[in-house]
Amino acid sequence: MTGAHILIVDDDTALLEALPRALKFRLDGIQIDTSDNATEALVRIEQNDYDAVVSDIKMPGLDGLGVLREIKRLRPKTPTLLITGHGEHDLAVQALRGGAYDFVQKPIDRDYFVASLERAIELRRLERRVEEQRLALELHARVLEHVDDGIFLVDDEGLIQHWNPAAHAVTGLAPDSVLGRRTEDVLPGWATVGPLVPVAETPDPGGPAPKTLPLELDGKELWLSVSGVRFADGVVYAFRNVTEQRALDELKGEFVATVSHELRTPLAAIYGSAQTLRREDLVLDPETRTRLLDVIASESERLTRIASDILLANTLDSGRLRLERQRVDLGAIVREVVEEMRTSFVDRQDISIELSETGGLGAVDADADRLRQILINLVDNAVKYSPGGGRVRVELEARPNGVRFAVSDQGIGIPPSEQQRIFGKFYRLDPAQSRGVRGTGLGLYICRELARRMQGHVWVDSQEGEGSTFYVDLPVVRPAKERARAAVIGLG
Ligand code: ADP
Repeated sequence: MTGAHILIVDDDTALLEALPRALKFRLDGIQIDTSDNATEALVRIEQNDYDAVVSDIKMPGLDGLGVLREIKRLRPKTPTLLITGHGEHDLAVQALRGGAYDFVQKPIDRDYFVASLERAIELRRLERRVEEQRLALELHARVLEHVDDGIFLVDDEGLIQHWNPAAHAVTGLAPDSVLGRRTEDVLPGWATVGPLVPVAETPDPGGPAPKTLPLELDGKELWLSVSGVRFADGVVYAFRNVTEQRALDELKGEFVATVSHELRTPLAAIYGSAQTLRREDLVLDPETRTRLLDVIASESERLTRIASDILLANTLDSGRLRLERQRVDLGAIVREVVEEMRTSFVDRQDISIELSETGGLGAVDADADRLRQILINLVDNAVKYSPGGGRVRVELEARPNGVRFAVSDQGIGIPPSEQQRIFGKFYRLDPAQSRGVRGTGLGLYICRELARRMQGHVWVDSQEGEGSTFYVDLPVVRPAKERARAAVIGLG
């Protein structure tokens, strides 16, 4: 009984002294408070959560039954023993009806009294433990409601007994449609993949790694990373949706294949031209020599562009990109890009790259290299995706709060359903739609991200089979006149 705390209420002070002595002797470590009147006793009961209360039933003022009523109101869980006079059966019955735990008749049979009190204290202890466990369970349940991982509990019969909101969110299956059913009936494919899920005997962060498994839900393939922990009556499974990660991994795999292909084409052209130039058995006329050197130069530039796209995409992803700010003349940048792209595509006689520029923009502060990169990517695409030739036009226009670049072509165009997605990382239209033109799928992603970092944006207007125009709007911040003469692009 160590740590048990009880209260004895009796107006008979002799008994109030004798009872505790007898109890302390028999119940080791018990702590006993006493009170000779009901009013004081109730104050104590309010202040202390006693393990049991013993009260005489007959007292002046508020009697034992009154005390019992108050205890039921204040501390409904505290077991109360009432002491009744000899032969007061009616009172005893009333006490029990009123919710007393037990009654003890005078003269008190010590053995009976101690045994009854012990049981009362034990009952209260058990109740407390149950209450603590209930609170802990409630807390766990609440925690489960808020974790990001899907969690479900399968009992020994194989039936789902718990399904948290994250599980609902990830799978789209509401608890109502899942609880009490077999896992394999709820998650198609579970019968095959379920047995592959590692189930640990105890929760252990260093335990077996979760298994990534495909499940088909609602016609869609869902990749879940699942692990389980056994508990007394079943298994708790936790899972995470890794579908996107998996798609990205697949995309990366494809990307590596695409890039190595992308690099191989210009390399083959460079290698072939160099080999031809080196051949001593061949006498090349100056025109052919120039053409071969042009191929080497333009294909090397192409390689450089691919390499810098990959590097830049990586820098953008890691968030390490810093924009420079130099005084630049936008008109000059556009002219340079157009010149560079004309040289780069000398062999595309079917394409004309034209420039149109409205004046009056003056100098701005911007990151010239990044601007150039955006424009080069757009012009490169315009030419690439115009397999039938045509006119590529680069425009620069002053707008009320900024500038607008437009790169238009008369090429294959882009279906409306793809016009948003093409700006995604690694996103490429399938070869049939892009007429087999090669690329890394990084160009437009880079354009979008760079423009965003300059507080601007990129979008496309396109008609399939007629051509596309890509726009880049960038804000120009005009600082107070007295401080600076130049405007600023992209404060990023
Ligand atoms: P890449 O050209 O290397 O594939 P981009 O990110 O530059 O990658 O472009 C993504 C996709 O958008 C291309 O695969 C192509 O299908 C489409 N696209 C881009 N520019 C044009 C354009 N000017 N005309 C038609 N389609 C285009």
